[in-house]
Amino acid sequence: MSMFERAKRRRNLQEGYPEDKGLKDGHCNRSGCLAPLEGQPHWWMTDHETFTDARLYYCQTCANQFTAWGKHIKAPIRCTLES
Ligand SMILES: [Zn+2]
Repeated sequence: MSMFERAKRRRNLQEGYPEDKGLKDGHCNRSGCLAPLEGQPHWWMTDHETFTDARLYYCQTCANQFTAWGKHIKAPIRCTLES
């Protein structure tokens, strides 16, 4: 397990979320969503808090919303589909 993953799991538990929130095959990283990601498309964006370039994972629905909002405010599109 990477240092990032260890730290992320600890933070999730401290904040009362599923331990694997935002991790691959875990749960969507958006706090208001938390959809299970196992067997689903994995969309990711870089974690800007830890300076590790680690990937935080989101579900399809949240990625669509982030992308729609990014287009709306003409900001760079942040979510990438993991291939
Ligand atoms: Zn989601």
